[in-house]
Amino acid sequence: AVNICWLRRDLRLEDNAALYHALKSENPVLPLFIFDKNILDKLPKDDARVTFIYETLENIKKELQEKGSDLLIKYGKPEEVWPEVLKAYDVAAVYTNHDYEPYARERDDDMFEFLTSEKIAFKTYKDQVIFEKGEILKADKTPYTVFTPFYKQWHAKLNDFYTKPYPTKKYFRNLFQTKKLSIPTFKEMGFEKSEMKFPKLSYKSKLGDYAKERDYPALDGTTHIGLHLRFGTLSIRKAVQDAVDAKSNVWLSELAWREFYMMILWHFPYAAFDSFKKQYDKIKWRNDEAEFKAWREGNTGYPLVDAGMRQMNETGWMHNRVRMVVASFLSKHLLIDWRWGEAYFAEKLLDYEMASNVGGWQWAAGSGNDAAPYFRVFNPELQTKRFDPKFEYIKKWVPEFGTKKYAQPIVEHTFARERVLKVFKEALNS
Ligand code: FAD
Repeated sequence: AVNICWLRRDLRLEDNAALYHALKSENPVLPLFIFDKNILDKLPKDDARVTFIYETLENIKKELQEKGSDLLIKYGKPEEVWPEVLKAYDVAAVYTNHDYEPYARERDDDMFEFLTSEKIAFKTYKDQVIFEKGEILKADKTPYTVFTPFYKQWHAKLNDFYTKPYPTKKYFRNLFQTKKLSIPTFKEMGFEKSEMKFPKLSYKSKLGDYAKERDYPALDGTTHIGLHLRFGTLSIRKAVQDAVDAKSNVWLSELAWREFYMMILWHFPYAAFDSFKKQYDKIKWRNDEAEFKAWREGNTGYPLVDAGMRQMNETGWMHNRVRMVVASFLSKHLLIDWRWGEAYFAEKLLDYEMASNVGGWQWAAGSGNDAAPYFRVFNPELQTKRFDPKFEYIKKWVPEFGTKKYAQPIVEHTFARERVLKVFKEALNS
């Protein structure tokens, strides 16, 4: 019999909780990855994240083949792929890591039922966070909805035990030995290989000056590890230990924001689709299609907004300060539903993470659990003065800035501010 280790958003062989537990079991272990049609069918055909996953899997395959084993890669809907896997292998147990998104929870519930009915154990582990689900709770055992007290407890509880890597390599002798297995091609899956450049996994040099530099988009003082945390090419335990070693407390707290939003998504899954504060769903959004297009393409006439949107369209990444500005601009200046912006980011960001994206958008729109108050309307011009005073970031992404060719402002700031205050007030008082 074999045990399967089902990889999903934990694409690494080192320091992987499920793989470690599988390897320590009595049966040899065959790792599996499924290109999930339920997810892929909704993506554009040139989605760069599919290329990132593909290349990562090729590396994992190579590493496993050197050990006489391999990665089994399937393409299809998990509910259709699993019966095939059970036909091909005498499976005793399936090991996998927790995934907290609504679709993943449903998938795993169904899988638990199916495997149990086949008398196969389904064992799941915490891997992508330091603390999950009910590990950080208020005294009355309910989840935190405000970050600061959440972080206080998170930080107090953190110690070496929680960041210790799982020593998978010690047990590689227990990998299932097999002849080489094939890999579905991009074409078979209906995708094209993307030429997008992916951020390298080298972040330690950024940690020292992170607190000083992180807010200035022209400095590029942040680490770009979002993509690697999203797909598990970096272990969160390693990132957190590196933050502690470098005494980079601000960066550590950013990693905790990631967990905070994951915890919110776990406890309040409705807030992935609806406003966390339900009155905000009474807002009468204008949802003007032409303005939404101008925002997407970076032609609003607000240079910081336009620079951010163009950076994301071209590179799949946008600086955090600018993400806040463009999100506030869409939901408040243009009165376009935060869900439209959330969906556009989901399509474009390499580091797209449902929990953080929904969290960031609801923070900006004011509808979130620990959000900016509704009357706080970012002034893009003031933000520029504070964070890009020499227009370096703006000029990099908007070369026509300052010439006649540059777009006129799509809406006047004071007018937009008064309009949003009126519309929000009406909804919140109704
Ligand atoms: P660094 O500043 O170097 O931080 C390291 C890591 O900490 C990040 O990679 C991320 O995993 C985590 N982190 C940092 N800031 C935050 C934060 N505010 N909330 C949650 N986690 C954080 N982050 C995503 O990972 N995916 C998203 O889809 C996403 N969408 C966002 C949408 C909006 C509207 C806003 C305002 C923020 C969003 N963020 C998102 C948070 C943040 O902007 C990015 O994590 C950060 O810019 C990524 O760059 P970095 O990897 O260089 O981060």
